[in-house]
Amino acid sequence: MKTTVLVIEDDNAIRNLITAALESFGYAFRYASNGKTAIMEALNKQPDLFILDLGLPDMDGTEIIKRLRDWTNNPIIVVSARSEIEDKIKALDAGADDYLTKPFSMEELFARIRVAVRKMNYDKSNEKEEPIFENGGLCINYLEKQVWVDDVLVHLTPLEYKLLCMLAQNAGKVLTHNQILKGVWGNYLEGDTQSLRVFMSTLRRKIEKNPTEPIYLQTHIGVGYRLIRIPKEENEGE
Ligand code: CA
Repeated sequence: MKTTVLVIEDDNAIRNLITAALESFGYAFRYASNGKTAIMEALNKQPDLFILDLGLPDMDGTEIIKRLRDWTNNPIIVVSARSEIEDKIKALDAGADDYLTKPFSMEELFARIRVAVRKMNYDKSNEKEEPIFENGGLCINYLEKQVWVDDVLVHLTPLEYKLLCMLAQNAGKVLTHNQILKGVWGNYLEGDTQSLRVFMSTLRRKIEKNPTEPIYLQTHIGVGYRLIRIPKEENEGE
């Protein structure tokens, strides 16, 4: 079945560009040009993925994210003219999976859509909590609490392990500093992005072949981090 995308955007020109591209790439789509219609469409049509503009005439996009997250975990990709880091953080904290700043290229938008769809399919096939997480050369055995990189056992401290597991469980999704701090340290390190940076650089040294050009742990400056989902061999199909 085709993946159905709900495009929530009040700018007709941008919306038409996105929907035309969706059509040509073989996606099904619906669209809404305000928040109220968007929520109705979302509830009635249950789309697989959302492309959401933050600045809508009747509602802030962040509010839509919060409402969607009450009942669906399907990916939300924010496209916004707001380049302020604060807005991105607010949207991600509310539950968005990814963001693009306008103007953006269609190639990039569709690359992000493919990543999000892959993550969603992966999550769905793993609803039973797989005991092993595999991503490229990175392997986490949750039962044994062991981490392997290219078949070599890596020794992590309990906090580094917890940090890596949180990123792995959200592979493909940008997590904000505060989401990570809260998830790993509870309220202890609230707002302490400096400590997080230190933990992240130690973790990188342990799992990345070249920590200055990481292939697993991607930094979003001023926003947070993402564990990049590495696709399996192309010929295994999606
Ligand atoms: Ca707008």
